[in-house]
Amino acid sequence: MAPVQVKKICCIGAGYVGGPTCAVIALKCPHIQVTIVDLNKARVDAWNSPDFAVPIYEPGLVDVVKQCRGRNLFFSTDVDKAILEADLIFVSVNTPTKKSGVGAGFAADLNYVESATRRIAAVATSSKIVVEKSTVPCRTAESMRTILEANSRPGTRFDILSNPEFLAEGTAIADLFKPDRVLIGSLQTTEGKEACRALADVYANWVPQERILTVGLWSSELSKLAANAMLAQRISSINALSAICEATGANIDEVSHAVGFDSRIGPKFLRASVGFGGSCFQKDILNLVYLSESLHLPQVAAYWRQVVEMNEYQKSRFSKTVVDTLFNTITGKHIAVLGFAFKADTGDTRESAAISLIRDFLSERAFVTIVHSALEACTQKEAIIIATEWKEFLEIDWQTVYANMSKPAFVFDGRLLIDADKLRKIGFKVKVIGRGERV
Ligand code: NAD
Repeated sequence: MAPVQVKKICCIGAGYVGGPTCAVIALKCPHIQVTIVDLNKARVDAWNSPDFAVPIYEPGLVDVVKQCRGRNLFFSTDVDKAILEADLIFVSVNTPTKKSGVGAGFAADLNYVESATRRIAAVATSSKIVVEKSTVPCRTAESMRTILEANSRPGTRFDILSNPEFLAEGTAIADLFKPDRVLIGSLQTTEGKEACRALADVYANWVPQERILTVGLWSSELSKLAANAMLAQRISSINALSAICEATGANIDEVSHAVGFDSRIGPKFLRASVGFGGSCFQKDILNLVYLSESLHLPQVAAYWRQVVEMNEYQKSRFSKTVVDTLFNTITGKHIAVLGFAFKADTGDTRESAAISLIRDFLSERAFVTIVHSALEACTQKEAIIIATEWKEFLEIDWQTVYANMSKPAFVFDGRLLIDADKLRKIGFKVKVIGRGERV
């Protein structure tokens, strides 16, 4: 079999992953034509907007799109045309947690992956490399292959690869420019290895060879779930310790610093917070829980389930601290929540901890309103909650905020963001997650 040289790429799904990932491929590979397609016309229109009002907030993204849109990067709703023309197709559609039916609340909803796969099978008139970019349960590639082979035209063949995406929202472009690793999983057949090489050659345009890891298909699929589960587990571990800090007077910053100095542990991802959010961590762990249960491994399922339960506990523990501190009732009180995104530098609010907090506050009949400026949000409030670590909140004129608040003026920092001592000197009563001081 002759080595495949990728000339045209189609990416199905113009979301947080498909958009930035394939825009960077277009930038780094001017010889490849990249078309990103989506059924969501509004989203495609935004990608194509004349003023580059792209649908995703991600530092550096607009710059990348500006350099290649119309040159070798295209956004379209014409899914069939892009499939027909491409020799390599990324499937980068959403894989949310199933809402109802078998495995509801845990299993991945593979409806979108299945539809995209069926579309490829129905439309393709020549051989294609089909790449799972979406995060999927282990052995999804097998189901995709069954669909493709059952529906393909004579003479067309499909090679399936797994190439999970490890970018983090907020740093997606930097992550894509300089990935820790690119992981490609393939069947260990001659054809599988050829397809793997074709995709590896695309990444080799900017990623050093030693960072391109090639493994078996199932290992690749599982590695993505494993990486997210272990990242979330670190957060839940440090958050569990933050609760002990608050009860004992220890300081979680000092504990993380001391623990992270151990070279076997390392300092990253040891920052206590009000809880992790985003569209991936919880869904991917629940997916792992479901997989473990399906494989009759209940203890393994329970182990991973605890990471999510700890996260839920951390969010409700923080809400309870707010209520307890505000004299055990927030009914009728006005609360400012600073930040709505699940972390800084992204516009993504999916599964954001802020949503949980606000839900708790509203259920206590507190007042929470939506405004555009932090200063305005804080005016005439009883308490301020820092829910997202936006740098902007460091630059607020806290003196003015204090002057305009009802007294006593409380600040609850769920992100270890502010200088608590500085605020206390102004007059605020401050509680910081993971610190045992009394207000
Ligand atoms: P998203 O919801 O932002 O984007 C998915 C897009 O696919 C949507 O715009 C949707 O309209 C489109 N789509 C669905 N079915 C389609 C079809 N049949 N044809 C054409 N378009 C279709 O999702 P996302 O955040 O980009 O995530 C995509 C996948 O990547 C998920 O599996 C996710 O778990 C994984 N992932 C996400 C991140 C992240 O940070 N968001 C990181 C790594 C991996």
